[in-house]
Amino acid sequence: MQGFLRCYSAWRFLRELTKFIAFYNTPSKKFQRSTKFNRPRHLDMSYSIPEVRPRSESRALPHSDHNAGTVYIIGAGMAGLSAAVSCIQKGWRVALFEAANHAGGRCRSYEDSVLGRTIDNGNHLILSGNNGIKTYLEMVDGLEGFEAVDPVSFEFIDMDADESWALSPSAGRIPWWVLLPSKRIPGTNLTDYLALSKLQGATTESLAGIIDPTRPIFERFWQPLCHAVLNTDANEGSAASIWAMLSETLLKGREASRPMLAKNGLSAALVDPAVSYLTANKAAPQFSTRLRALKTSPDSVQSIMLNDQEITLNAEDRVILALPPNEISALLPDITVPTETRAIVNVHFRLEYPPPLPNNVPFIGMIGSTSQWLFKRGDVYSVTISAADELAENTADEIAATVWQEVAKVIGRDGSELPPVRVIKEQRATIAQTPAQNELRPDSPTKWQNLFLAGDWTKTGLPATIESAVVSGQKAAELL
Ligand SMILES: Cc1cc2nc3c(=O)[nH]c(=O)nc-3n(C[C@H](O)[C@H](O)[C@H](O)COP(=O)(O)OP(=O)(O)OC[C@H]3O[C@@H](n4cnc5c(N)ncnc54)[C@H](O)[C@@H]3O)c2cc1C
Repeated sequence: MQGFLRCYSAWRFLRELTKFIAFYNTPSKKFQRSTKFNRPRHLDMSYSIPEVRPRSESRALPHSDHNAGTVYIIGAGMAGLSAAVSCIQKGWRVALFEAANHAGGRCRSYEDSVLGRTIDNGNHLILSGNNGIKTYLEMVDGLEGFEAVDPVSFEFIDMDADESWALSPSAGRIPWWVLLPSKRIPGTNLTDYLALSKLQGATTESLAGIIDPTRPIFERFWQPLCHAVLNTDANEGSAASIWAMLSETLLKGREASRPMLAKNGLSAALVDPAVSYLTANKAAPQFSTRLRALKTSPDSVQSIMLNDQEITLNAEDRVILALPPNEISALLPDITVPTETRAIVNVHFRLEYPPPLPNNVPFIGMIGSTSQWLFKRGDVYSVTISAADELAENTADEIAATVWQEVAKVIGRDGSELPPVRVIKEQRATIAQTPAQNELRPDSPTKWQNLFLAGDWTKTGLPATIESAVVSGQKAAELL
């Protein structure tokens, strides 16, 4: 009987393994984007950065006259910039308005007086599988603003257990490395990785509803992934959103999983090239201009009120609102939007004699600590803590003191003296990416035929990230 049971278990295990391998070989159709937006095939992102045309050749496009109207785009974050660039490419006249005095929204760099450095509001990780971003960068000749991390390896350190490991995706779709115990995360077994295939059919489940939260892999892989991608705790984060991200990147193998780091910060890499491109095409963002109201008929927008100036729309004109969800619900209460957000706290330290991170990597995942991800750029060490609503209630001094002790331990420094530090709390960094909040994400078209939505939080089929913001802008431009 025992022999039979052993044979049966072995047979079941092999069956799961076969399913797992088959699943890696079959890209899912079900969870591809649910929208009509299709990106051109040649834009598949790969590690090799294609040759770009010299700026002067590609900047100003001859204005095509097939679109007689103007597209009024409100909000010059990544979604608005992406929409504006795509609209120009499609031959529209574009007028872009932004309430702040700079572009980039939640994704920006600024000159920090305490550190004496240009820093990003938060560390933003982009992977080479983010095809929407690549398309956008190609359009604005911005690919050279990024450098690809080589080799592709995600390093982690468990601060409690004093253990460290690295995850290195295989070259192809099948993650052969999971078959080798020495390559796996300490404390995990093959069954932990086979469980990944269960995410494929996820709809309204949280990650913890599918992956056993008591297994070490939950805290050592799923939690840091969920923090980084969803800015939401893995106990409540949407399994379908994680699946959407994995399908675009890690499940495609190494060349789609390569971290792409902004060489000189987020603004230089993602924002400035678009602003230059738009300026060259007579669509420079108009700053300090807030959308205050829209006048609508039952099926279209009649006019928009920018600061105290009313613009009446012609029949050929269109409007794209690339605004955060709370702004949309204040302007147009009929539109259903996500209502919950999550905070991100970033802590930036500048060190006089900056040691490298372990194994000389540019960033490292931290487990069992307040700090979640530590990045090093030159002499600035930046820590990101996602889903940080509770932490954000502490003072900046308290947060800096706790985080510095952890950073000092990782880089082998005596933590007694706090270096120059800046703590940035982004209270509404992203929407909460729970299954319930995802249900509230609206699609781009609205009941007003000349009004479209864009923004990372709209229904792109992706987690609310830069990739989603950029894709939402491209999608809105496609649908006009
Ligand atoms: C700290 C932090 C870390 C992050 N880390 C990552 C990461 O690692 N990877 C990743 O992919 N994503 C990350 N994100 C998310 C990413 O920044 C966002 O997904 C993206 O920037 C959203 O762009 P958006 O254009 O949709 O929205 P926003 O950037 O919010 O843009 C909206 C714009 O509208 C403007 N506006 C608002 N109201 C009005 C009005 N009435 N009239 C005119 N203009 C108005 C705002 O000023 C803003 O510029 C992070 C975000 C934060 C805050």
